[in-house]
Amino acid sequence: MTKSLKLGFAGLAAAALMAPAAMAEEFITIGTGGVTGVYYPTGGAICRLVNKGRRDHGIRCSVESTGGSVYNVETIKAGELEFGVAQSDIQYNASNGVVQFDGEPFEGLRAVFSVHPEPFTVVARADAGISTFEDLKGKRVNIGNPGSGQRATMEVLMEKMGWTSDDFALASELKAAEQSAALCDNQIDAMVYTVGHPSGSIQEATTACDSVLVEVSGDAVNALVEEFPFYSVATIPGGMYRGNDEDTTTFGVRATLVTSDAVSDEAVMALTAAVFDNFEDFKGLHPAFANLTPEEMATQSLSAPLHPGAEAYYKEKGMME
Ligand code: GLU
Repeated sequence: MTKSLKLGFAGLAAAALMAPAAMAEEFITIGTGGVTGVYYPTGGAICRLVNKGRRDHGIRCSVESTGGSVYNVETIKAGELEFGVAQSDIQYNASNGVVQFDGEPFEGLRAVFSVHPEPFTVVARADAGISTFEDLKGKRVNIGNPGSGQRATMEVLMEKMGWTSDDFALASELKAAEQSAALCDNQIDAMVYTVGHPSGSIQEATTACDSVLVEVSGDAVNALVEEFPFYSVATIPGGMYRGNDEDTTTFGVRATLVTSDAVSDEAVMALTAAVFDNFEDFKGLHPAFANLTPEEMATQSLSAPLHPGAEAYYKEKGMME
């Protein structure tokens, strides 16, 4: 008894010696999206690189599957998440207090970097007679769960089209990870997802049944691209998914990593360094990262102010002035 107590104290003393106060562990969590999207593996890739350097910086990173962009931003604001992945349109709206954040700007929102492009992706059952976005009228459509980026972008597009959810035979609110199964079970005719490619969700929708990627273009889309800096015309390359050999034209945003001014410079710098010091490893962790460059990620599609921890890293590495 006495002996084991003594050993216990000795152990504690050794641990205290090995872990000086400056190396106290700091926990960070990244809010992502559904497990079959690209945010979830993106968070996983970032945390994997952060955790590799844990002995040097003392930061332990974990990933949470969430309802998506809007949820992530709101939860960072509430102080319950340190980081989140968010669409560039949602970052802009939150930072400026417009659209879903009307009159309530999140002033402490901070940008870290942007990641992969996210085309607004519409998938329809091949037997549903849908070949353009207009054809969704009168159909059973999953418009996305509240809190998701696709729901937010869909609402903006519907408004431009002059549509409400009454224009659909059914407007369901299934989460991203549930919608491919609902499509292939014939509970809905079409689903929307603002997502990087390739993604597990679209793979599921195109392999478990016959389904097609739908073109999203026309006056409403052109007006959005013209009006807002964060929307651009986008192409989903042909040959990525079964039965979809041709390119699909649509419009899109970029995924971005955001945090708040309440998160420490050390944590943000350690995360930023983990990604860019190991950039080739990072790029290899998901095929949607194939065309990323560090300079673009540090400067493009960011509308909230940069977090000082990220800015310090970019300046130190000469990635910005
Ligand atoms: N863009 C989607 C959202 O903001 C998530 C996409 C993904 O999980 O990859 O909710």
